[in-house]
Amino acid sequence: MRFSRLFAPTKKESPADAEIPSHKLLIRGGFIRKVASGLYDILPLGTKVILKIEKVVREEMNRAGAQEVILPIMHPSELWLESGRWNVYGKEMIKFKDRHERDYALGPTAEEVITDLVRREVKSYKELPLNLYQIGRKFRDEIRPRFGLMRAREFIMKDAYSFHATDEDAEREYWNMYETYCRIFKRLGLEFKAVLADTGEIGGSFSHEFMVLADTGEGKLVYCKECGYSASTEKASQLRPALPESREKEFKEIEEVYTPGVKRIEEVSEFLGIPKENIAKLLIYIADGKPLALLIRGDREVEETKLKSVLKVKELRLATQEEIEELTGQPKGFLSPLGLKVPLYADYSLIPMVNFVVGGGKKDYHLKNANWGRDFQVKEFVDVSEFTGGEACPECGAPLEFKRGIEVGHIFKLGTKYSEAMGATFVDEEGVERPMVMGCYGIGITRVMAAAVEQRYDENGIIWPSEIAPFEVIVIPTNVKKEEIRALSEEIYGKLKEEGIDTLIDDRNARPGFKFKDADLIGIPIQVIVGKGAPGGIVEVKVRRSGERFEVRASELLGKVKELLKEV
Ligand code: ATP
Ligand code: MG
Repeated sequence: MRFSRLFAPTKKESPADAEIPSHKLLIRGGFIRKVASGLYDILPLGTKVILKIEKVVREEMNRAGAQEVILPIMHPSELWLESGRWNVYGKEMIKFKDRHERDYALGPTAEEVITDLVRREVKSYKELPLNLYQIGRKFRDEIRPRFGLMRAREFIMKDAYSFHATDEDAEREYWNMYETYCRIFKRLGLEFKAVLADTGEIGGSFSHEFMVLADTGEGKLVYCKECGYSASTEKASQLRPALPESREKEFKEIEEVYTPGVKRIEEVSEFLGIPKENIAKLLIYIADGKPLALLIRGDREVEETKLKSVLKVKELRLATQEEIEELTGQPKGFLSPLGLKVPLYADYSLIPMVNFVVGGGKKDYHLKNANWGRDFQVKEFVDVSEFTGGEACPECGAPLEFKRGIEVGHIFKLGTKYSEAMGATFVDEEGVERPMVMGCYGIGITRVMAAAVEQRYDENGIIWPSEIAPFEVIVIPTNVKKEEIRALSEEIYGKLKEEGIDTLIDDRNARPGFKFKDADLIGIPIQVIVGKGAPGGIVEVKVRRSGERFEVRASELLGKVKELLKEV
């Protein structure tokens, strides 16, 4: 490709709504343009990157035995009504009517459509297992589309669904996909972790998220350096903290203190001169319609996904002020665990605490030196706080490390949720009709592009891994008016292309500094600069990732480029 013909409108400035580096750089580098909130044009450079990501995904999925299909994006409501999700998926699903007033949705995911296909066509255990995938558009009317392609309303996903005769076979395929995803993300040049994830309402089975490590990620995970345990913070567990020895001996006399207008933990801490770690806060929740109280250390936050899963409930919310007053007879801001009439749970963070501060149960009062077991009883200690690192690994006890990440893939053992709801059955070896056991496996293709940038960039621009770079090499003649420079550049360009190396030549009649800036911004891994050395057959090579520059004979360039492409 010739830069003079390339549609890559680069920019000096990033748009005002771009908050994170990948969003800024993909706009500035001319990869994407915004059409409306969460909707993007993907320009030639972006399209090339996406096609390369898709190529890796296709190769590895095919290698793993999956088969590619193309399913409709427009989904009839009947299928979603059958699965029971038409009314529960919520506003994220874009619904519309056709000319006959029939209801449709733009597919946010495709369990229904694929289960419908398989139930129509597959009847016997002999036709199983089956793993079908597609790479296509998904639509989700996200509440907060942001970060460019990271959380868009229309995006590209690879979604695969597998069907099995037995639970064991579904599990075998789950691990086959797990290995396949590891290979895919490794080939894409990403630093990632596969973490245990929450299974949400589907429940029962298990799931992993694949996270690209990046400080700007919306995902949170913990992992153990010692034994390799890793989990999303929505799922992570810890060893139950030990009880301090002779805990009772430390107990002091409980004391009521006057704390006028002092409600929030920060205020209580400051007013009483007691650290937040020695204050307990009490929260009232309504879980599937039933009230409960939860006590947690003052500096900790509740991970509601974990609380939901511990309580085995579908809906969880904080009680309103009126509900709190009605249920406890106490004012909000001064809630006390003493004499509570609703079931009282306490987070693990409460276990080691002694002589702590709690609300006084009446307006403007707190209690000092409260102790669970003596002053009030806890129904159950539960592990429901948001992890921030330092908790004890559930496998080996070493302190967990905290990281942020971008969820680029998600694998799920679904079980028979969809096959039972939609009647996807088969006849087994004994002639018995049974529901198929399913799995589903997604990769956010467009999100991978953003995540790759988020992981590797510098002040000058993007640093693509060579496997997904829009071009592997850029040849930069410093002056196209000089015949020796022009001719050698063209010769090198021709040779690299002949060798199957994806090469761009910057044939524009522009200053070298201008060209270098664009090459750095776009992030092409290897730059071949043809300048003063041209008459002697010498060119300069710059490696985008390391910034390393060196001279090489034009005749030896090809070998050198091939070697470098393997490393960057
Ligand atoms: P998130 O928690 O980030 O909303 P999700 O759990 O809703 O993701 P899945 O339903 O598991 O996502 O979809 C599979 C993959 O599709 C995700 O791992 C992610 O890479 C990608 N994806 C999901 N939502 C979006 C979006 N709005 N924009 C771009 N990619 C997305
Ligand atoms: Mg989502």
